[in-house]
Amino acid sequence: MPVLSCRSLRKVFAGNVVLDGLDLDVAEHEVVALIGASGSGKSTLLRCVNLLEEIDDGTIHLDGDHITAPGTDADRVRQRIGIVFQAYNLFPHLTVLDNITLAPRRVHRRDRADAEAQARELLARVGLAEKAGAYPDRLSGGQQQRVAIVRALVNSPRLMLLDEVTSALDPELVGEVLTMIRDLKADGMTMVLATHEMSFARQVADRVCFLDGGRVIEQGPPERVFGAPTEPRTRQFLRRII
Ligand code: ADP
Ligand code: MG
Repeated sequence: MPVLSCRSLRKVFAGNVVLDGLDLDVAEHEVVALIGASGSGKSTLLRCVNLLEEIDDGTIHLDGDHITAPGTDADRVRQRIGIVFQAYNLFPHLTVLDNITLAPRRVHRRDRADAEAQARELLARVGLAEKAGAYPDRLSGGQQQRVAIVRALVNSPRLMLLDEVTSALDPELVGEVLTMIRDLKADGMTMVLATHEMSFARQVADRVCFLDGGRVIEQGPPERVFGAPTEPRTRQFLRRII
């Protein structure tokens, strides 16, 4: 059974059809990269999966559970999914430790000591143990983004959604975030990441999905999609950006 299964997703913003019958399955331990022109719906898809946007039609299943069924408790679903955005992820007025433990404590009613112990362990694993008491503005962009990833990991999610997580970083800081994502992959984390950096997709993805016209119109291993795209629109897109 796939961890994530999206069927015939439709999402319309004020007459603008962004997702138009999109299908996507993601297997356990798989890393899928979403590529496509700006405005092709990559972020919208991730937001729909995390129930931050309501779909207009179709279904989304997480581990076989129909999470877009009416009456679904969105907070409980989000507990099973970690999401990280491009930038401005952290609350500036909270320490690193409080940033990480806020949601587990407030939303998920986790015990403070328990949440903090796990947060410290995760921080230590990514070499940020000594930053627990620091405020975000004392951290580099790469460190902030690593903390945002740790925060998304604190509920031991089944699925991680990463939306352009390296795009706002200075080039010299991209590497440390990439390394962290590669380590997550090595640990077997299932991930869907949107990126406009093809080198990033090439390095971490098992499968690349090209979005166009609200659907996945071509997909396959990165070497195949980048090396020998079959769809004219994929070829045109890759010619423009590589
Ligand atoms: P991508 O991440 O691939 O660049 P997005 O999912 O951000 O694409 O956007 C897809 C389309 O949906 C764009 O045309 C964008 O303007 C539109 N869109 C996204 N979010 C909203 C929103 N909250 N309200 C109206 N339109 C939106
Ligand atoms: Mg986007």
